[in-house]
Parts: sequence; structure tokens; C-alpha cells
Amino acid sequence: MWSTSREWNMQIVKETNEMVRAFFPNIPIFPVIGNHEANPLDQFPNPEDCPAELTNGWLYEEITAQWSRVVPGLENGTVLYGGYYSVLLKPGFRIISLNSMFGYSSNVWLTENSTDLASELFWLEAELGKAEAAGEHVHLLGHIPPGIVSAERTWSREYNRIIWRYENIIRAQFFGHTHSDEYEVFLEDDRAIGVAYIAPSQTPWHNYNPSYRIYIVDGDRPYTTRLVLDHTTFIMNLTEAHETNVSRWYGLYNTKRDYEMASLTPSDWLDLSYRMAENRTLFDLYWRNYLSAADPALAEECDDICYEQRLCDTVTSDRNDLDACYEVIRRKRKGIEDIIYKKKN
Ligand SMILES: [Zn+2]
Repeated sequence: MWSTSREWNMQIVKETNEMVRAFFPNIPIFPVIGNHEANPLDQFPNPEDCPAELTNGWLYEEITAQWSRVVPGLENGTVLYGGYYSVLLKPGFRIISLNSMFGYSSNVWLTENSTDLASELFWLEAELGKAEAAGEHVHLLGHIPPGIVSAERTWSREYNRIIWRYENIIRAQFFGHTHSDEYEVFLEDDRAIGVAYIAPSQTPWHNYNPSYRIYIVDGDRPYTTRLVLDHTTFIMNLTEAHETNVSRWYGLYNTKRDYEMASLTPSDWLDLSYRMAENRTLFDLYWRNYLSAADPALAEECDDICYEQRLCDTVTSDRNDLDACYEVIRRKRKGIEDIIYKKKN
């Protein structure tokens, strides 16, 4: 991961962008910046007070050039400044793509200053304020999920406050980074107000199978909600591909059908977490999907501690707040109030 260079990273950004563009011609594409684009990896200094030779200007210039070719209506200013943007996909429907490495604890620049690098959250709040005034629905895209252990605490807390405030217009949030298939429910007290979808990855690191996902979103119609209605995840079984020399992609599972969900509202996701807490068989299905159906010979086993941790992950969107985590573990332990729990990793 450390054997990268500016030239190498830019080449990969360029090739990936061109490949996606070639396979999805004339389809709007909304890229998100990730932690491996930087060189050295993970490092995203504050453009406001960083010496010129240490900035990521070289990277932002390249992604601006590449993304301008696929993102409809992209105004380049914020990409060039900090790797984030906001575009109106169609009247009433806005896409905001974030540079979440300003909230990633492996970005060591945050040890110097953890107060909203590149003024990104300040900008996000202003964008959402304008979107609310204009009656728009918004989808948020990012790389590092806001509740994971390596999310930086200040950023995690402030991001959640913004989600609470704009619950009424934020209709979906999409993240990656962990390589695992998971989700994070956002809660305000006991009420589920949002969910972050964390899709599994193409890369098989951690012995997973390569994966991709198709989301079905409420589309163009009067009174559309722009909510995610369902999603299906596809994988390629790497063991089988090695044995047969054929890469066969197939649907691994469908969310509504396989998790028996009536719909995909935040409270349905919270309900799934509670049901998994009380039903290990249901959790085992989630765990198989979490690993993209990894080869059993290579797959990580999920012992009882892992079971509780993974349940906890599904209800943690602010890593400073473990109340929902304790509640889901209490349900798993069938009502033992006195939870002594320490989050690993
Ligand atoms: Zn990542």
C-alpha cells in the first residue's frame, strides 16, 4: 500500500474512469474519492494551511479532469479545492459526493487539526440548506463510513448532527472502504432516521469474493421519494473461477426477499438488526453476505464476540455514541442489562 507514486495513482484513476465510461456510455456517473488515491496513502492535508509541496493539488487536478467527463453538470471548483462536489442530477434531485478522508483517523493531518478540514462539513451544511429551501431530495456519497472505528471522532459526531438536521431531505447515503457488505443505521434517541449503505467491494482483499450491487431507487414520478426500494448484490466466486477458468457472476442475494424486509426504511434496517440479535441463523445469512460468500476454507469465522461486534456496527453511525450498540447486545443476550462491552479493533 505504501509502494505507490503520484504517477501510478493518477494512471489508475484515469484507467478506472475510462473503463467505467466505456461500459456505461451516456449514463451519469458519480465518482467518490478514496483513501488510496493519495500518495502517501490516506494523507489529505487541509488545503487552507498546507505548504504547497505537500498539498494534494496534483490529485485534485487529475480527478477534476477525469470526473468532468462523466459527471453531468459538474462545477469543478470544489473538486479542485478538496475532492468533493454537489450536482443537481435532475430537478429536485441532488447528488453530493464527499471527501471523507477529512474524517478518517489514518489521515495523520487530523492529529494537527481535526476541525473540518477544507471546510467540507461547513460546505455540506450550506449545500443541504440550499437544497432544503429548493425542495430537493439528496443522496450523499462517501468512501469512509461515518460510524466505523477508524472514522475520526469529531467528524463522526458532526456528520451525524448534519444528518439529524437534514433527515427530511437526505434520502440515501452510500459508502465503501470496509470491503464488507454492511450498513449503519442513524438514530436520534430511539428513532431510526437514516441508513448508510456500505457496499461490498470489487477487490477480494480479506479473502472475499469480488462483488457489485444494483440499487433500485424510487424514480421519476410525481411525489417520488428517491428512497432506495431494494438492492441486489452480485458476486464472482473466485475459487470456482480459479478451478474452471471462467468468471461467472451471479446474484448472491436480494435484500427484501432474503432478509424478509417489507421495505428499506431506516426503521426496517433497525428492525433487521434487532431480529439478527435474536436469531443467529438470520445473522449467519448476513455474515455470509458480509464476506461476499467467501470460500468456507478461507472465510473468517464469526465467534460470539464477533457476532456482537458486527451487530453493534449496524447501529453505530456516530462512533462516540454506543447506546444503540448496547441495546442491540442487550437484545442478543436476552435482556442482560449490565453490558460489559468493549469494542475491538
Ligand atoms: Zn478505502
